[in-house]
Amino acid sequence: MPSQTTDFAITGGGIVGLATAIELQSRHPKAKITLLEKEPQPARHQSGRNSGVIHAGVYYAPGSLKARFCAQGVAATREFCAEHDIPTQTCGKLIVATDAAEIPRMEALEVRARANGIAIERLTGEEARKLEPNISATGALLSPSTGIVDFGEVALKMAALFTARGGTLRLGTRVTGGDETAQGVTLQTSSGVISAGKAVFCAGLQADRMATRFGAQVDFRIIPFRGDYFAIKNQPADLVQHLIYPIPDPERPFLGVHLTRKMNGGFTVGPSAVLAGAREGYAKTSLNLTDLAATLSYPGFWRLLARNAGSAMDELGSALLARRYLKKVQRYCARITLADLAPYKSGIRAQAVSRDGRIIDDFLFVDTRHSLHVCNAPSPAATSAIPIAHHIADRLLGVASQ
Ligand SMILES: Cc1cc2nc3c(=O)[nH]c(=O)nc-3n(C[C@H](O)[C@H](O)[C@H](O)COP(=O)(O)OP(=O)(O)OC[C@H]3O[C@@H](n4cnc5c(N)ncnc54)[C@H](O)[C@@H]3O)c2cc1C
Repeated sequence: MPSQTTDFAITGGGIVGLATAIELQSRHPKAKITLLEKEPQPARHQSGRNSGVIHAGVYYAPGSLKARFCAQGVAATREFCAEHDIPTQTCGKLIVATDAAEIPRMEALEVRARANGIAIERLTGEEARKLEPNISATGALLSPSTGIVDFGEVALKMAALFTARGGTLRLGTRVTGGDETAQGVTLQTSSGVISAGKAVFCAGLQADRMATRFGAQVDFRIIPFRGDYFAIKNQPADLVQHLIYPIPDPERPFLGVHLTRKMNGGFTVGPSAVLAGAREGYAKTSLNLTDLAATLSYPGFWRLLARNAGSAMDELGSALLARRYLKKVQRYCARITLADLAPYKSGIRAQAVSRDGRIIDDFLFVDTRHSLHVCNAPSPAATSAIPIAHHIADRLLGVASQ
């Protein structure tokens, strides 16, 4: 197949790649921009398989990219959705302490939220129960600006805008390798070679492989963490008005099993966090030997496991036994029973882990001469996708970031 040329090539049609495509298009309306996605549709992985929460920005280390982009992303996401008739709800979130031991951690979280400039209100147990009679709480934090949206729908709208404005979206096209040249980047794909002036890689669960294949100097690996959800059935439509989250354990990288309202009505509980046997396989039995070998051969994985053996076993137990999973939910919502849990689609988080076994907490971008690699974009990257895209465009085009 003959080689094709483009000004900008973006690999990955998740929400980050798509937001980047429309951002570059708005800055360079005459440029040729090509987005390459290996799946037959955009948003088949993380962007279409998440909790759907527009995070307010409570949790993130003050001064981090996560804190900055999440706060900007709340407004940007709502504005985008309002402009394009995508429904959102600002239902607010209660982060509930269920015993006295959790109160100091709750207070620390309140301090962090305030340091991030996020509106937050401290409630007594009684005040929390008044707001949410079906919830047990010793105390709670109320984040009124947290909301929900279907990020898959947002991504599909971005794809439609991109093509309507003249962008080339090549679905079913896998980037298999390539090189940086003096003039730009050559990408080998499943449907031919593409020469690009500049390239951006937003490959989610494949981010480490893309970075290594294109010669970026990186020393991390994507470790896939599976998140299983259950849909709640048999419960009234007003079970809870807010999203209900536990107080996060600072020793664990993820936010804990939460009770989430969905845009199409109903509720889910989840997600768990257990090592996935395949990066992009969603059945519980999915196993990809290349993916598993990539995890097990990485010293950082074993160091991470050694440090978190207790929580890893707990998560594994919850993943295997719905009854154990249920216990986490019943701590704050005792009326949900085993009979109320129905299967729901799972997601797999792309989490970068360093060689010394640390979870890389913040968003991570690595530049080469003509490319930018999005190396770590876990939650809240769906909320933050629009400011992330601004940041990528600034770096790629050599504009000083505001
Ligand atoms: C269980 C779970 C819950 C979450 N909850 C939330 C939440 O409530 N709020 C929030 O803000 N964030 C949440 N997140 C995080 C959020 O979903 C992700 O941070 C975000 O979707 C990342 O988008 P992305 O575009 O980087 O990755 P992805 O959506 O994974 O997209 C990457 C794309 O690259 C493509 N690709 C990879 N390799 C190639 C290749 N070689 N050639 C061509 N294409 C390729 C893939 O097919 C894929 O479409 C959650 C994530 C998970 C998994």
